[in-house]
Amino acid sequence: KPYLEALAVSKSYANVAALQDVTITVRPGEVVCLLGDNGAGKSTLIQVLSGVVQPDTGTMRIAGADVRFASPNDALDKGIATVFQDLAVVPIMPVYRNFFLGREPTIGWGPFKRFDSRRAIATAEEALRDLGVSAGAVRRPIGTLSGGQRQSVAVARAVHFGARILILDEPTSALGVKQSEMVLDYVRKAKERGIGVVLITHNVQHAYPIGDTFVVLFLGRQLGTFKKTDLSETQ
Ligand code: ADP
Ligand code: ADP
Repeated sequence: KPYLEALAVSKSYANVAALQDVTITVRPGEVVCLLGDNGAGKSTLIQVLSGVVQPDTGTMRIAGADVRFASPNDALDKGIATVFQDLAVVPIMPVYRNFFLGREPTIGWGPFKRFDSRRAIATAEEALRDLGVSAGAVRRPIGTLSGGQRQSVAVARAVHFGARILILDEPTSALGVKQSEMVLDYVRKAKERGIGVVLITHNVQHAYPIGDTFVVLFLGRQLGTFKKTDLSETQ
């Protein structure tokens, strides 16, 4: 059964139909690749899936129930975590602060309540170790990390806060070969844990080995949806 469904969603800007009647469903552990050239509507679709924009028409569902995502934090509460290309981070803040941005663990009570940095550092270190980000990096300003490391932080954060669906916006475009392999490796790990992944890319070669389902967009329209199992039958 799908965990996340966007059914016949449409979104227009002024006179541009950015998305027309697009349907995408994601099951636990399924890797759905969203393919399309510039202007295809990929960004608009992930903005809809992650609560950044509201669709004009169409239905969103979580585990079979109709929902509306009021904001990205609301979507995250519902298990949908998005790692954007331009990550919403505060560059001068240390990694662990960014990791807990908006969801800070606290210690103490009333006027003595404060950010629990010891717990935050320990938790962030552990979550990041999995993704090959060294423990030392956790206290550094996130702006001093490479693009790949910043994306790893965002992925670790999403998983830590209980993501059921991970949406990755073009995760390999800005990264070196080694880093993109690590991201793809992470997608496999997420898949093994039963996390559904939506991978936005224009690189079919990258997407094919790892994807289960391929959604092709062109000028806001859905050209087709292909399952790898169906594709291999016809080879
Ligand atoms: P992609 O990510 O596949 O390149 P986008 O979703 O960014 O596609 O864009 C789809 C279409 O919608 C494009 O024509 C784009 O210019 C337009 N568009 C996207 N966002 C906006 C916006 N905020 N305002 C106006 N037009 C937009
Ligand atoms: P990409 O294809 O790499 O995702 P885009 O340039 O299509 O990058 O979109 C980047 C961001 O700019 C998205 O958030 C998109 O919604 C927004 N955007 C795209 N086209 C327009 C536009 N014509 N006017 C305003 N915002 C836009």
